[in-house]
Amino acid sequence: MPVFHMFVAGGKEYLFDANANSFFKISKTLYEDLQKYQQSGFRDSSPAIEKLQEKGYLQERADFEMIHPMDSTLEYSLERCIGTIALQVTQGCNLRCKYCAYSGGYENRTHSSKRMNKETAFRAIDFLFQHSVDRDRISLGFYGGEPLLEYNLIKECVDYAKGKSAGKELLFNMTTNATLITDEILEFLYENGFSLTVSLDGDRQAQNKNRIFAANGEGTFDVVMQKLEKLQASHPDYMDRVHINAVIDPTTSFDCTSSFFADYEAVKDFYVRANLISDFYRKDGALRDEAYSERFSYEIFKLYLQKLGRLDDANISKLVLHGFQSLEDIHDNVKMGVSLKTKIDHHAGPCVPGMQRLFVDVDGNLYPCERVSEASKAVRMGHIDTGFDIDRARELLNIGRLTEKECKRCWAFRFCSSCAVQADDLEKLSAEKKLQNCTMIRGHVDNMMRDYCVMRDLGLDFDKGKIF
Ligand code: SF4
Ligand code: SF4
Repeated sequence: MPVFHMFVAGGKEYLFDANANSFFKISKTLYEDLQKYQQSGFRDSSPAIEKLQEKGYLQERADFEMIHPMDSTLEYSLERCIGTIALQVTQGCNLRCKYCAYSGGYENRTHSSKRMNKETAFRAIDFLFQHSVDRDRISLGFYGGEPLLEYNLIKECVDYAKGKSAGKELLFNMTTNATLITDEILEFLYENGFSLTVSLDGDRQAQNKNRIFAANGEGTFDVVMQKLEKLQASHPDYMDRVHINAVIDPTTSFDCTSSFFADYEAVKDFYVRANLISDFYRKDGALRDEAYSERFSYEIFKLYLQKLGRLDDANISKLVLHGFQSLEDIHDNVKMGVSLKTKIDHHAGPCVPGMQRLFVDVDGNLYPCERVSEASKAVRMGHIDTGFDIDRARELLNIGRLTEKECKRCWAFRFCSSCAVQADDLEKLSAEKKLQNCTMIRGHVDNMMRDYCVMRDLGLDFDKGKIF
């Protein structure tokens, strides 16, 4: 059966033919014909539909196997091309952020006093070197809990990894709440060129609402500010290696957070990446707020005006600056074209598990990334002592097989963002759990398609990034 999606954007009718991976601006009459065609189970055609079919569109696709294109090289990739590992050096943290995966709001994840011992850490580093033979550049990351609780272990790991790195570029990174950074630690991070991701959610009110000290329940804003001020004053040339990650609570004020990151002296020169509080594994489901969404959409609208050359950069909130990427992804995807003769295919979404950011928990277990729950056996893909569980990695990569029937009929197939994380019910990879996300995914893709078509209509040349 043909798989397509229709929508109206900017007062015009559009068709997205999923099998041909192509967009068309269509007449109102053809739009209505297509609606009837769809409702009749693809029986009630029309001359205009037949004309499109004669040109090779709205075709049924030959059946294919749901296999990821990287499946055939999976073993090679995991054996020789691992690029990054992140060591969970501790599960402990000196904060108790209310939305943190370990603070009780998420299924099966809690803070514990478990820490990685030196032997495990060194074996994990050996594992990285053994599995990155075909990479010239690799990186070693430190993750927690709060990794700086294990500063001494991190120092030993850095020395150990440097001692083994001949012939390779070795990079270090860390995600930290910054509260434990001392002069000595700052010097160490600077000297070793660490890329640092500092967690900071916004102004005093936004930060202190969720990010509090475990010991006394007090907010962390003042301490983090003091650390960032110190960093800028003593190492101004280090600032471009330090990014801020803001976890946005949609019940806080968008405007306050936005102007804080734009104007507040201690943070205005840092790159900021903002994400809403994660829904994955949350016990109480997604956090949403209508007013926040409206305000966010308005800023995205301003970003689009800026892309069209009708608004200055200075008017755009830093919180949405990466918001154009999804439209560029749609453009690149459509431009690539498709071959309907291919015998295997897979919906977009999953990475090659472990290849980009292999996560090693305190016990040496391997996971595709730090976003999955290390309490889940379903996403565990081996151990540093026994190597990769290739069958499990293959299952994670080919996660589309779980929902093959639905995916083959889904117009969002090439723009899907579903991976094993969405399917993980902590015991197994569940089709039911995965499908619960599809309405939200398709809603997002639909929005992006509308915006993409309108922007093209308004004259944005996505290839050149300018107006034609
Ligand atoms: S969230 Fe999914 S796709 Fe992204 S790195 Fe983790 S496992 Fe891979
Ligand atoms: S949105 Fe759902 S049905 Fe569609 S491709 Fe993604 S996982 Fe499959």
